[in-house]
Amino acid sequence: MSYIDIIPIGEVEEALLSFLEQSIFQTFRFQTRIHNRLFDLSHAYDPIRNQYNSSGILLDLIDDTPPETLRILGVTELDLFIPIFTFLFGEAQLNGIGALVSTHRLHNQFYGIPENKELLKTRLVKEGIHELGHTFGLIHCFALNCVMKSSTYVEEIDQKSAHFCRFCEQEVLRWRIEKNV
Ligand SMILES: [Zn+2]
Ligand SMILES: [Zn+2]
Repeated sequence: MSYIDIIPIGEVEEALLSFLEQSIFQTFRFQTRIHNRLFDLSHAYDPIRNQYNSSGILLDLIDDTPPETLRILGVTELDLFIPIFTFLFGEAQLNGIGALVSTHRLHNQFYGIPENKELLKTRLVKEGIHELGHTFGLIHCFALNCVMKSSTYVEEIDQKSAHFCRFCEQEVLRWRIEKNV
């Protein structure tokens, strides 16, 4: 049995996680499970930026992966960056095991407007599926509605759907057949 493990990093609301888990199961059709693990993130923290280095967290996330884990998606409220970008919604290893998403900049509140739980959930699902898509070998897609379209701003997340276009869908299928999982 191969699992997609969803791992909260720090406090993440349970309702949010279970909604994400369901959507990921419906999209990828692999068994999913939510795993709680403790992380020491002090090494990833940058006090000058007051943000966390995404790549550092990603390495922790994939450390000691159980053999039945096919893919790992870390979910965090922390604000992520990598040195060449001021912030990230998420990061993933292309064709690798690990992916990471942050809800930090998916909250309306972050932009000074009233919080919208439904919108937050939808944004998280889109970014979670997007980052996991990279782990299945998908690169950024130019189809306007495709979840693999890259998003620099939250408005761009809202403009795309939570689904793969036909081409990306085919690619995931091809991956499955090739790897026989
Ligand atoms: Zn991407
Ligand atoms: Zn696509």
